[in-house]
Amino acid sequence: MPNLLMRLWSRALTYIDGFCGRYTVVAVEDLPDELQAQKVYAVGESGHYWLAALRCPCGCGATIQLSMIEGQRPRWTLTQRRARLPSLSPSIDRTVGCRSHFWLKQGVIRWCEARR
Ligand SMILES: [Zn+2]
Repeated sequence: MPNLLMRLWSRALTYIDGFCGRYTVVAVEDLPDELQAQKVYAVGESGHYWLAALRCPCGCGATIQLSMIEGQRPRWTLTQRRARLPSLSPSIDRTVGCRSHFWLKQGVIRWCEARR
């Protein structure tokens, strides 16, 4: 069953990505109360995602929610290279709380400036 193999393989890759400290994507229908670190939650149904969420990478514990609804501003796009390594565009610039400003590029957080 090649399908099952593919699924196992992609699971293994996701595991390796997580192990290497890269972000991985979790598709969910509802956003869980407690978000795990180093995961981007894609919230939606049957391949249509309207919200991306992640825990703030600075460690402040805040949940960051990014609208992916078409036509809405601001709006973020979540892309995945080879169905893995997520990137979010544009950058995430928190105007409240810790005021972190970063990009998520191919599963890695890139800080816009050194603040801490
Ligand atoms: Zn933060």
